[in-house]
Amino acid sequence: MQPIEEIYLDHVSSTPVHPEIIRAMDELLPIHYANSDALHSAGTKIQQLMQRSRSAIAAAFGVSADEVVFTSGATEANNALIKGIAMANLHKGKHVITSPIEHASVYGSFEWLESQLGFEVTYLPVDADGRVRVEDLKDALRKDTILVSIMAVNNEIGTILPISDYAKIVKENSRAYFHADCVQALGKIPLSLENIDAASFSAHKINGLKGSGIQILRKNVPYVAYISGGQQENGMRGGTPNALANILFAKTLRLALEGQVAHQKHCEMLKQRLIQKLSNIDAIVINSPSEACSSFILNISCLSVPSEVMMNWLNAQKIYLSAQSTCSSKTRQYSHTLTALGLTGQRLTGSLRIGLGASNTVDEIDRFVSVLQEGIQTYGKL
Ligand code: PMP
Repeated sequence: MQPIEEIYLDHVSSTPVHPEIIRAMDELLPIHYANSDALHSAGTKIQQLMQRSRSAIAAAFGVSADEVVFTSGATEANNALIKGIAMANLHKGKHVITSPIEHASVYGSFEWLESQLGFEVTYLPVDADGRVRVEDLKDALRKDTILVSIMAVNNEIGTILPISDYAKIVKENSRAYFHADCVQALGKIPLSLENIDAASFSAHKINGLKGSGIQILRKNVPYVAYISGGQQENGMRGGTPNALANILFAKTLRLALEGQVAHQKHCEMLKQRLIQKLSNIDAIVINSPSEACSSFILNISCLSVPSEVMMNWLNAQKIYLSAQSTCSSKTRQYSHTLTALGLTGQRLTGSLRIGLGASNTVDEIDRFVSVLQEGIQTYGKL
């Protein structure tokens, strides 16, 4: 009997490391072990490589090199930017705005501002597609609003949000700064940081290394460093940097941007095939929006089998995906994104998130659908 091949449909959670990054890591790791802040040549060489990476990243985003700060990932970047901007601007007001569909690291930072520093947080409503209406944002802005954070692409249902429009409204109507979690947008959709004061990114979502991210913070934005006690990163983030990850971020970004159009086309083709095949299954409902949605994310609900049962079944068949954001996968709470869309009952309890990637194939999609159908026949209550 042929062993069954694993099918990885969890690219929203993480992606395989690009072979060129593995090769570069293998090359650099044995030789570049010095501390990048050391004053001897072994240290300064690493510092130079890190600065070269920083400049390339800055050029790709159209910002200056000193606006790019390396972090351990987007969770850190989101925490640092939201808390750091809020604390530095606290004297101007204590009102902040976000959406109810943000990643845990964003809404957790807002909850922290609320509980620890007494900020007032407005959670804007979203429409049935999970999108914040520009007019609602405009109406929520006040004299004492100092920060707005809305994500670029939702990581559970794939909704693309018009962050440039939000940023413009914030600029035109308030003194607040605008932050966007751009993790699921990078390398997936065209992205402009115009009018955006701060943004967060993660390498492992674009075939890079885990524990590697960046925060972009425009120079004019008052900011308090979250990790203090070190000269590194221009005083913006203390601690010996993960130099090799930082050096490789530029290459990761270049590879992701070079492959973006082809990967998006490929994944959109797979997604449309999935949608077409799933539309023939009565027990399946699609939760992702039909328009302005990431080609890499499809969220569905199985109305007759709870997520956990279906995930166990798929896992037993070596098909790997998630039910909701992986960072909240152990909380046993229902997805706050799907809840914010107004979904209840089996739409909530039977949700599954398919995260497509460049390496997925038509055969994998077809096998996934037939295994899903088998799961429904075996465990379905319909
Ligand atoms: N924001 C979004 C939208 C994400 O999808 C993720 C990853 N789950 C993060 C932030 C956190 O990124 P990291 O894993 O680099 O901390």
